[in-house]
Amino acid sequence: MKKFLESKLFRSLSVFLFLNSAIPPVISSSALAAWVLNTNGVLELRTKSNTKLKAYFQKANQLYGDRFWVDFPGELKNPRKIKGNGPIKEIRLGKPNHGKTRLVIEFNEKTYLNPLTWRMVGIDQNRWRIKLFTPRYSFKKIGEGVVEKKTRNIKTNQNLSYYRKVDHDYLQLPNVKQNKFSVVIDPGHGGSDPGAIGIGGIKETDVVLEVSKIVKKLLSEQGVKVVLTRKNEIDLDLPLRVSFANKTDADIFVSIHANASRGKRRDINGLETFYYRGGRGRLLAKKIQKQILRVSPGSPDRGVKQGRYYVIKNTSMPAVLVEIGFLTGRLDARRLEKTAHRKRLAYAIAKGILEYLSKVG
Ligand SMILES: [Zn+2]
Repeated sequence: MKKFLESKLFRSLSVFLFLNSAIPPVISSSALAAWVLNTNGVLELRTKSNTKLKAYFQKANQLYGDRFWVDFPGELKNPRKIKGNGPIKEIRLGKPNHGKTRLVIEFNEKTYLNPLTWRMVGIDQNRWRIKLFTPRYSFKKIGEGVVEKKTRNIKTNQNLSYYRKVDHDYLQLPNVKQNKFSVVIDPGHGGSDPGAIGIGGIKETDVVLEVSKIVKKLLSEQGVKVVLTRKNEIDLDLPLRVSFANKTDADIFVSIHANASRGKRRDINGLETFYYRGGRGRLLAKKIQKQILRVSPGSPDRGVKQGRYYVIKNTSMPAVLVEIGFLTGRLDARRLEKTAHRKRLAYAIAKGILEYLSKVG
């Protein structure tokens, strides 16, 4: 009987709170309720339930050191700064604009960070966790409020764990001379030719087109002219791709593909990059391969190889063909179906290209 009463209470409480939160004031108060950065480098947050968060990272510039920040809905009452220690220079709570709250963690110079691996994990409806640095730095914990406080009205579901990737648009890509370089990006296949078909019917043409478009966006933002051989699902045979590229007078040609293994073996995963002519082609392939591996932890390095593919053999500029993973492989396919991973790969390819251009150009 007691159990029954308790569950009744439970339910009525949650209904009350739900109704209450359904009528927000004109400017709601900050959704950030408490936060703590622990000695082991883990930042924990408590928010209002089911809050939508956005997390960002930006490399150091002249004004600031490396910064990580989280934006919350609702306006902060008292903007404030908290002095850091160890790897942390300062923590700031502010309102970047009306009705928002921003928690900024600024790191000291020389702190080693690997934001590509950062994941904001929702551990229940109102708590979040992200590991920002390793315990090799001595650090005294900083925080405000109580993060572990249980909200009795919400049934905690331990299986409910949703990941949120830190937005990498803010990571710094290498700078190159503005408007000096042009690049042809060739999304493989298209139209009636879907390319490889992977686990769950995932199509190479879709994956490589999205990745290529993001590469174009990233490079364009760095002042590099980019042309795509195709922008949508059209049939485009290989000689047309090559003649198109050769007419553009571009500095490099990058064809983007995803792999399939014979017999669709799920245990075969990995990344590889091909070039046809040595020297510059090989250098470009190496730069790209290195970066795509960094965003694909656990997936094998199948290496930088010479390949006789038509599009890299017949183009007149340094040319590479990148295979960004196996659509038939268990590990790679699970990643390649996600836009977040496609973005990471696009970022990596753009970075490899920019590193090449800044070296050779
Ligand atoms: Zn292909």
